[in-house]
Amino acid sequence: MDQIKHNELTFHLMLEATPCALVLVNAQGKVAYSNAYTEKLFQYSKREMIGKMIWTFLQNDNKNESHILIQEHLKDPANNSTGCTFELNAQKKDGSGFPVEIEMNPIITIDGEYILIAIKDVTERKRSEMQFRMLVESAPNAMVLVDSQGNISMVNRQVELMFGYERHELIGSKPEVLLPKEYREAHLHYRQQFSQHHAYRMMGVGRDLFAQRKDGTFFPVEIGLNPIESADGVLVLAAIIDITERKKNEAKHQVYVRRIEEKNEELKQSEQKLKALNATKDKLFSIISHDLRGPIGNMKLALECLISGFDLSDTQQLSLFLHQVHSAASTTYDLLENLLNWAKSQGGRIDFDPTIISLNEIVEASISLVEDATSRKKISIINSITPNRLIFADKHMLMTIIRNLISNAVKFTPKNKKIYLSIRKADTNWLISVKDEGVGIHPDNIHKIFNNTETFTTHGTDNEKGSGLGLMLCKEFVEKHGGHIWVESVLGEGCDFKFTIPLMSK
Ligand code: ADP
Repeated sequence: MDQIKHNELTFHLMLEATPCALVLVNAQGKVAYSNAYTEKLFQYSKREMIGKMIWTFLQNDNKNESHILIQEHLKDPANNSTGCTFELNAQKKDGSGFPVEIEMNPIITIDGEYILIAIKDVTERKRSEMQFRMLVESAPNAMVLVDSQGNISMVNRQVELMFGYERHELIGSKPEVLLPKEYREAHLHYRQQFSQHHAYRMMGVGRDLFAQRKDGTFFPVEIGLNPIESADGVLVLAAIIDITERKKNEAKHQVYVRRIEEKNEELKQSEQKLKALNATKDKLFSIISHDLRGPIGNMKLALECLISGFDLSDTQQLSLFLHQVHSAASTTYDLLENLLNWAKSQGGRIDFDPTIISLNEIVEASISLVEDATSRKKISIINSITPNRLIFADKHMLMTIIRNLISNAVKFTPKNKKIYLSIRKADTNWLISVKDEGVGIHPDNIHKIFNNTETFTTHGTDNEKGSGLGLMLCKEFVEKHGGHIWVESVLGEGCDFKFTIPLMSK
């Protein structure tokens, strides 16, 4: 018996010394016992509390609600034997209220069933919660708090403004509701990963991340995820930044950058054009002074000689003399033609104007220009192009091409050899060939002859001089038609210059 008394005393002292308010109520809710801490917390003495209904000590505003809550629990305490916790507002003797968390546990004694109520003052916790809420509310970004179950437990005003939802529509739902459908599954996966490795993280940086408003429209976002350790597990505070404006500015910036790049490119091109024009001008002067001045000077001298002291009765000598002057004039004329064409094409001033023309007419005209040379060198030109062969091409350009190829063939073919001219269809093109039995071209030089950045020239079999402009022009004019030009040559055996003109080029 003494032992029981002793135990009761120990138990009583323990209850009194516990730093938590403990109140024992009977099945009706009447206070049967309260410990010292309860006196301290509520400012009521034990005597004042014992015998009163427990809800006497709750605040008026939620007395009814609390009353019902506690009564519900008292009715069936066994069902809540593991303890039942709820938050209420308690009231001190001076009438002031304070938030408490109460936990109710049933106790069976020989006097019947009692409920032990542990009351915890949660003023401090509520204050920090309030501060946290205010902080979140006043944040300039949209903030969403997700609880440890993955449900939205708090959103601020910015979220309502940004997404068009009312707060209550979001609380309790999953955060995926704020994302476009196609992102939701992936997000769920990210969220699960994040819940295992909590660390501050930014989402949407360096890749496009979109959020979805209530009205279904999307907007680009960046999201900062902050894990918060709490008594209820790890919460995640997500700060959402609408980056629509930034994206627009980025796009504008890119447009500016592109424009600047385009302008730079234009400047570069016009600088290159200027350089090319300058080079053209230099070359023009150099050809005029070297290649034109010489032959024209010689012709002048020859004609002076003819006027002053030539025996005009010697008709044979006279004819030879005139043929020589004519030949020099033709070469000079050819050179002048090429020179002007080339200068025009460098300045982009050549018009491409194709029409239906007779190829043979052009070929015959070109052959007549080299008659002096062919008869001097006894070269025969075998022309198998029929007179009725019509092609669609620019007459002036085609004349330049054919004239150059024929005059080259004559120039680089020794005496008593032949030159062959032909045309045939090859797929969708005309294939025109100017073939000679001349000196041919060394394989090392073949790539140089159509190169328009530097000129390549050698002397003809009669030591004829050239300018290296002819084939460059041929290439340019053939390509204007959409055709292609090349040479097949065996050194010492001759050359076969071939070019194509599309059957119906525009
Ligand atoms: P040019 O004849 O005034 O030198 P071209 O551009 O017409 O200028 O020719 C460039 C060079 O190509 C010639 O100097 C010559 O070396 C070579 N070439 C052109 N046609 C022939 C040809 N039919 N046979 C051999 N070499 C040729």
